[in-house]
Amino acid sequence: MDDPAPDLSLRDAVAALESLYPLQSAAEWDRVGLVTGDLDQPVRRILFALDPTLDVIDEARTWGADLLVTHHPLLLRGVHSVATTSAKGASVTALVRAQIALWVGHTNADVADPGVSTVLADALGLADQRPLSREGENAIGRVGVLAAPVSLADFADVVATALPATAGGIRVSGDPGAEVRTVAVMGGSGDDRFDDVRASGADVFVTADLRHHPVLEAREEARGGRPFLVDAGHWATESLWLASARERLLSALDHVPGATRVETRVSTIRTEPWTFVVGANAARADRAAPDPGGVS
Ligand SMILES: [Zn+2]
Repeated sequence: MDDPAPDLSLRDAVAALESLYPLQSAAEWDRVGLVTGDLDQPVRRILFALDPTLDVIDEARTWGADLLVTHHPLLLRGVHSVATTSAKGASVTALVRAQIALWVGHTNADVADPGVSTVLADALGLADQRPLSREGENAIGRVGVLAAPVSLADFADVVATALPATAGGIRVSGDPGAEVRTVAVMGGSGDDRFDDVRASGADVFVTADLRHHPVLEAREEARGGRPFLVDAGHWATESLWLASARERLLSALDHVPGATRVETRVSTIRTEPWTFVVGANAARADRAAPDPGGVS
């Protein structure tokens, strides 16, 4: 009887991940790739999550994962200690103690095809997709068209249905009754892309982390018209990518020895940091209290 094939090695798993999301396509400031782990260690269980938080690492440990794949880096800035006195240090220590390798696919996953923005565009049903802009070889964001024009209010419902629910919900800037059809998307933070969105001719831009000044200035430039803005939340706009990454990794590992025994799972932990909102829509212009009339 033949010996069973050896387990998948971390070396092979990392090679497969980096064939899908090449490290050289990451932004210069980014820190992607392998963070912890030994290339010769076996990989039997792989957990996918957006953020390597302490809870996610605990989930990986409890499930017995050997490899945690996350979108956001654990260590983006310089660290001088990985003692458990800081959350970052506690995270590194927990990963090393539990022999969990961490691999990060961040801006290299953003620009991949399929990648974070194409998965978001697909989820919204956008056809005829093209890059929102280009940086060197990399396509940033996507622009596509809906099957038929819809009101901005109905489009916001499409976004809400397509994305996982969050406490914060979805914020929209624009006339709820205005018609939209061409849609620009960028998963995660996109408020540095308004020039590209205007140039693309999009009716509406779906992204996240939209701050007061960039948004107000963009709305002023648009004179209240197109492009309208939808802030659908950082976690929600990027989390759809996890299932895609899981499927693509399994396909890439198809003929690699030991890979058939690998179990994979997308984390059930929501790393969206917001817990609840109050007062939503209290000051909505189209729901303003009626003028009481009469003479006071
Ligand atoms: Zn992000």
